[in-house]
Amino acid sequence: MARRMIYFFGGGRAEGHGAMKEILGGKGAGLHEMTRIGLPVPAGFVISTEACATFLAHGPEALRRSMGAELAKSLARLERAAGRRFGDARDPLLVSVRSGAARSMPGMLETILNLGLNETTVVALAKRTGNARFAFDAYRRFLGAYGCVVFGLPRDPIDAFLTEAKTREGVRQDTELGAAALESVCRRIESHIRESIGRPFPQDVDEQLWGAIEAVFKSWMAEKAVTYRRVERITGLPGTAASVVQMVFGNLGETSGTGVCFTRDPNTGDRVLYGDVLMNAQGEDVVAGIRTPLSIQKMKRKVPRAFRELERVRSLLERHFRDMQDLEFTVEEGRLYMLQCRTGKRSSQAAFRIARDMAKEGLIGQQEAIGRVSSGDIERLFYPVLDPQIKKRELQARLLATGIGAVPGAATGELVLSARAAEESARAGRGAILVRRETSPEDVAGMHAARGILTATGGKTSHAAVVARGWGKTCVVGCGALSVDPERQQVRIGGRVLKPGDPLTLDGTEGVVYDGTFPLVRPELPEAYHEVMGWADGLRRLGVRANVDTPYDARKAVEMGAEGIGLCRTEHMFFDSEERRLAIREMILAQDTEARERALARLLPIQRQDFEGIFEAMDGRPVTIRLIDPPLHEFLPHGAEEQGALAARLQLPVETVARRVEQLRESNPMLGHRGCRVGLIYPEIVDMQVRAILEAAVAVHRRGVKVLPEIMHPLIMDPREFDLLARRTRQAADRVLAEQGVSIPYLVGTMIEVPRAALLAEPIGRLADFFSFGTNDLTQMTMALSRDDSGRFLPDYVDEKRLGILADDPFQTLDQEGVGQLVLLAIERGRRGHPGLKIGICGEHGGEADSVRFCHHIGMDYVSCSPYRIPIARLAAAQAAIESRGPEASARGGTAASRRQRGRRHPVAQA
Ligand code: PEP
Ligand code: MG
Repeated sequence: MARRMIYFFGGGRAEGHGAMKEILGGKGAGLHEMTRIGLPVPAGFVISTEACATFLAHGPEALRRSMGAELAKSLARLERAAGRRFGDARDPLLVSVRSGAARSMPGMLETILNLGLNETTVVALAKRTGNARFAFDAYRRFLGAYGCVVFGLPRDPIDAFLTEAKTREGVRQDTELGAAALESVCRRIESHIRESIGRPFPQDVDEQLWGAIEAVFKSWMAEKAVTYRRVERITGLPGTAASVVQMVFGNLGETSGTGVCFTRDPNTGDRVLYGDVLMNAQGEDVVAGIRTPLSIQKMKRKVPRAFRELERVRSLLERHFRDMQDLEFTVEEGRLYMLQCRTGKRSSQAAFRIARDMAKEGLIGQQEAIGRVSSGDIERLFYPVLDPQIKKRELQARLLATGIGAVPGAATGELVLSARAAEESARAGRGAILVRRETSPEDVAGMHAARGILTATGGKTSHAAVVARGWGKTCVVGCGALSVDPERQQVRIGGRVLKPGDPLTLDGTEGVVYDGTFPLVRPELPEAYHEVMGWADGLRRLGVRANVDTPYDARKAVEMGAEGIGLCRTEHMFFDSEERRLAIREMILAQDTEARERALARLLPIQRQDFEGIFEAMDGRPVTIRLIDPPLHEFLPHGAEEQGALAARLQLPVETVARRVEQLRESNPMLGHRGCRVGLIYPEIVDMQVRAILEAAVAVHRRGVKVLPEIMHPLIMDPREFDLLARRTRQAADRVLAEQGVSIPYLVGTMIEVPRAALLAEPIGRLADFFSFGTNDLTQMTMALSRDDSGRFLPDYVDEKRLGILADDPFQTLDQEGVGQLVLLAIERGRRGHPGLKIGICGEHGGEADSVRFCHHIGMDYVSCSPYRIPIARLAAAQAAIESRGPEASARGGTAASRRQRGRRHPVAQA
């Protein structure tokens, strides 16, 4: 038998129910559920998302063939329930046709009201109600909506007919227009449509209905809807449902109206009805802002009975759905009708507040409360954002270009083109947006000083993104429309030429660059945040550490809830000041071991001082310090002028500097002489770094602070490499401890970031005290995708409308299908070689919610991420723990985030 495509509701009975969102869409499921629990809902039926899928795959004819008979039957049933006939010349039934997918996509899909009106029925409606004004108001709305949605005509010329009528009549509001004026608006819209489509407006109501259903389905693939799904990462849905519901009228006079409200304040989470109502109006007027609506509380005076009923509905719905609801209703001559209820969208502040309050009210449990907040909520709580009061129009007018939003939040400041200028700008108290083609380690001081960073190239784990994220600095990368010309001291962007000093604003949440400055606001951390996060900490198994390399950031990380440092990238420390840059450069330029050791001796106290600060800040928590990793050429200047200056400082011939830079040049530096390979060829570097770590540990230990150093080698690919380095490390460490006469426990471990290391995890694990997955490099090498350059084409790989090969950017969300297998295999093999081996992750994925959940499910001990992402990791770790316990939240299908994209996950993580 053919699959049923239509589900009827009315008269207190419904064929569907609230849990059928996949089939009926959120709105459709809500209508069925509200009917079931006895709320006043007009009768109607929902055409399923499967029907939409049929239409999208096989076209309108196929849809009519497979659903025609069912539609006719459902319509007849609706006519009986309403006691009116569709298209009837005396007492016509009118319907609304609304979209509604399983996940809410506000404003993205189409809706048509007052369907069933034509030249005959409009007159009948006027007669039956004795209100011609109302009938023609409904008709002009229908004509306008149908013209735009079904025939694809632009909105403005149609709206202009109403505006012209108001001018002609000398009135300000549409409610002041009489029947004759509205009738003439109808005539004008009709003839406009006739001229535009080359035939008269369809008078056949069945044809109207099919046209509307098809248009609603078609809106699923409209550009804005597709973009919205991509941004919201909504995948795997077949399409939208369409609900066909008997019209009730909010435009029947002053005791009628229409409203949209939330059962709690969606901005603050306050437990009050929050929303707007417009008297003598229809649904779209509230959203379109045609008239200024009344606050919902004012409805109490206008239609007291309907208001009391709405209060009753509110508490009933909250108890029933156990979540804040977004409601649409109509009051027809004093009587309340519910048209929609769905889970309401809310601000991050409200998300925490509502989750906490509902748990305290006993509506939900603590575990479910944890599932009610998302990583996005946390991110948005922390970053300054564009003031929400700014008008959309103004933003649009000053938009220069879009790129990839790498670090969310917003920043505003003067455009600068060099790291030095950024530092100067900060010193002068102005604040800079550092604009570069791409950033390099030489820029870090300037990046730190800047308020925001914009690059023309790069993806979400490019240098700029990783460094900026560590500091919670707004960052937009991969901005293709940007070209930077440092020689001429200018940039071209969005058809404009900008110079240093010009004001610029970045929105890193959306990945947008604006001309000029905008006001920013920093949201306060609500009390409910601390409470819900406390519950989360009590539930998670996974440890959460930070990727930091300064004492300041270490303290910040502890504030954010870090339980240790999982990655201290020592190379970042060499760029902090001129003195440090000079010392490392001198070491690299050394002609022999002796000269190198002399230079290293100058670096030793600098590193030791850093480590002391970090150990103190971490106050007994474990600290993983990774020895130097990047290819050495990254530390040297590449321009002739800078090379000349360096040569002069070091009293070396400039040719020596230039020659060394040339010697170090590599075609594939990421696969070149970097990571542990540097330490193997120049073991004196390892000696110096290990000495600095242990001397710092001893000094801090003597001050009575516990220290737990963990020394980590990067880019290991072979057990013999690790064996050599681990021996050297232990010798150097033990030498310091013996000299100082102190015993301090320390660990020696390795990053697993080369596929070969993952495969050889068993013999490597035998030698190592711990593993830390460097999933940035592991992704790069497993997928043969450059971390720094793949941003140019990866968006197409991810874009459903283009290639849709990958579900996510693999540098942002761990590719569980591929790279994840390698991680899992390495964990199994590593623990085979060394039972109980401590295992963590320190790639960028350690702060991404889906990846953190995966890390929990595959048995890691901890994740490590930038300080600003620590709360995200804490929350995701708790959500994963809840998923594996299978309690309240998973009984309902898991947390919102865990339900997403389940298909792309490694089976181990499909709890
Ligand atoms: C990694 O590769 O995942 C990692 C943490 O190291 P880095 O980003 O410094 O290369
Ligand atoms: Mg790495």
